Amino acid sequence: MPPGTPSAEPCIFCDIVAHRAPAYLVYEDAEAIAFLDIFPFTRGHLLVVPRHHVPRLTDLAPEEHAPYIRALATICRRAERLSPDYNVTLNQGAAAGQIVFHLHFHVIPRYGEANPFTPSARRRLSEEEARALVAELSPP
Ligand code: 5GP
Ligand code: ZN
Repeated sequence: MPPGTPSAEPCIFCDIVAHRAPAYLVYEDAEAIAFLDIFPFTRGHLLVVPRHHVPRLTDLAPEEHAPYIRALATICRRAERLSPDYNVTLNQGAAAGQIVFHLHFHVIPRYGEANPFTPSARRRLSEEEARALVAELSPP
C-alpha cells in the first residue's frame, strides 16, 4: 500500500493520524505520530504510529524504517522524563495480543510494578491525567 493510501477498513489510528478522531498527541512529524494510550498500563503509556496504514513492521517499505525508528527514539527520550525504565513492545497478530491492526510500538514507562501487563491493572485515562502528561511530554 503506498504511503497516504487510507485503510480499506475503518481504522481508529488512521482517524487519529488524520485528526478525525481525538487523541492526546505528544509528537507529530511527516512520517509518524505519538499519543497517549487511552487504556494505559502505566502512567504515560504511549503509542508511536506511522502515518502510513500498515498492519505490521514488515509491511513498511525499507525507506520508511529509519524515520519511524527515529520517531520511536524521540518518544523514548520523552518517556525518560517520566521514568528511566520503560518497555518498548510490538504486538504482531491477534495471537500476540494485537487488537489495532495499524502498526504501533508501545512505550510503557515502568515505576517498579510487578507486572503492568495484567489487564486488571488498566483503567481508562482521565482527562486531567492526560493534560498533565501532554504538558510533560510535549516539546522541548
Ligand atoms: P495492541 O494490543 O493492538 O498492541 O494495542 C492497541 C492499543 O491501542 C491498546 O493498548 C489500546 O488501549 C489502545 N487504543 C485502542 N483504541 C484507542 C483509541 O481510540 N485511542 C487511543 N488513544 N488508544 C486506543
Ligand atoms: Zn490505520
